Amino acid sequence: MKQSIYGLTFEQLTSWLEEHGEKKFRSKQVWDWLYQKRVTEFSQMKNVNQSCIDLLAEHFTIETLTEEIKQESQDGTIKFLFKLDDGNVIETVLMRFNYGLSVCVTTQVGCNIGCSFCASGILRKSRDLTSGEIVEQIMQVQHHLDKQGKDERVSHIVVMGIGEPFDNYDNLMDFLNVVNDKKGLSIGARHITVSTSGIAPKMYEFADEGIQVNLALSIHAPNNELRTQIMKINRAYPLEKLMPAIDYYLEKTNRRITFEYILLRDVNDHKKEAEELAALLKDKRHLSYVNLIPYNPVADHPYERSEKEAILTFYQTLMDRGIKCGVRTEHGTDIDAACGQLRSKQIEKEKARKKKQMQTN
Ligand code: SAH
Ligand code: SF4
Repeated sequence: MKQSIYGLTFEQLTSWLEEHGEKKFRSKQVWDWLYQKRVTEFSQMKNVNQSCIDLLAEHFTIETLTEEIKQESQDGTIKFLFKLDDGNVIETVLMRFNYGLSVCVTTQVGCNIGCSFCASGILRKSRDLTSGEIVEQIMQVQHHLDKQGKDERVSHIVVMGIGEPFDNYDNLMDFLNVVNDKKGLSIGARHITVSTSGIAPKMYEFADEGIQVNLALSIHAPNNELRTQIMKINRAYPLEKLMPAIDYYLEKTNRRITFEYILLRDVNDHKKEAEELAALLKDKRHLSYVNLIPYNPVADHPYERSEKEAILTFYQTLMDRGIKCGVRTEHGTDIDAACGQLRSKQIEKEKARKKKQMQTN
């Protein structure tokens, strides 16, 4: 199967073209067509010579995703379900904020980390997405915006869709390189956030990259017992491995880390957990921000959303101890916009349809 040209960084495309006998300046032209004029066919690249167009078309495609479903929520959130060329489906979400338009991308088909509260975790990982498939999610959303004719641009990216980005590290890094490149989409590194469940060795590597991309860590519990209960990855990377990795990142980058804390009713939302979390982050509170996430209930999962009171108490307890925090506002709850929900519903529907078909045959 041909790979998407979106997967190549500018440097990779330049050396590929040179290896294939093309002039160096072609890559600048091709990128201009891809990311400024945003065409979807090589034949539309007017100032590129025919032999180069033929060469590219022979080895690459531009688009590999097909839009299966697009749901728009009342608050302007749009959820896209895309089919990959191997038939798997992934989801991408566009959210509107007062500071801009943010896209949440998927990095893997399913996820092997298996957090007990997450819709993606039930469906095991079947494969990593290629860098091209991750970039293309942004491009598909941008093409949608272009068609609306309002001159809107994707300005922010959160790598918080299905999958563990640090379990697909090299493709993640190529993706970040492409979307950040000034010659392409030029989405500022400070406008991009990567969220990890805490793969400690990769956090060291990420710190050493020398890039300004933000890091979010899904902490979700202030002690090992509770954290292991809701995130089994904590067995491999318990807090005593995670905290030094966080310290290294902070020291190396001097950039703030966002700690994501999903509030599960009567599980991790008591005042004592807020106190424990505050103590855990005390020495790094100048570079910490805690994002409290009201849980989005998932079918067949044992958890419920915390009461409003509990959320407020948790928030206040952290604030009183000098830990900056906020409660995440929700987007598109009327369209299953939470991590993996639309996709898992779609897969259930598909299963039910196949079962019915077998019964009637
Ligand atoms: N695998 C990475 C990134 C994807 S998950 C990680 O875990 O950090 C991104 C965020 O979505 C995580 O913080 C996760 O806790 C949150 N999330 C998953 N399921 C959710 C649900 N049902 N309701 C609210 N947030 C959820
Ligand atoms: Fe994977 Fe993140 Fe979901 Fe955990 S929360 S199962 S790491 S996608």
